[in-house]
Amino acid sequence: MTNTDWMDQALCAQTDPEIFFSDSGHYRDARKICDTCPVRPACLKHAQNIEADRDPTRRYGLWAGTTPRSRSQAGKRAEISGRRQTIIRLDAAGHSVRAIAAEVDITERAVRRILSRHQNGPGEAA
Ligand code: SF4
Repeated sequence: MTNTDWMDQALCAQTDPEIFFSDSGHYRDARKICDTCPVRPACLKHAQNIEADRDPTRRYGLWAGTTPRSRSQAGKRAEISGRRQTIIRLDAAGHSVRAIAAEVDITERAVRRILSRHQNGPGEAA
């Protein structure tokens, strides 16, 4: 089950939802609202989760100030980067590979590969 408590603080729920689903692809007014929304990170993560298996052409609406196209391009990069940083931080804090894998929901092998690349530098393959 997904934790959606953050939605209680969503600013878009207090305004016209139509501006977040523009047929023209223009979201200027909606973006202004997202820029001040206190739950933007959770919103972006939620959008990435629900769209993860969705074809880019079937994504719609402005979520966390991001268009369907920008989410499909940048969302994945941000998620990978964030996961990598979490793995490195947990490793530095002394967590086991198994605990890290469970925390970020990837395999232990993938955690070892990411840590190896981090320890060998960005130009080294694992
Ligand atoms: S960041 Fe997300 S929750 Fe907040 S106003 Fe924008 S679309 Fe709504």
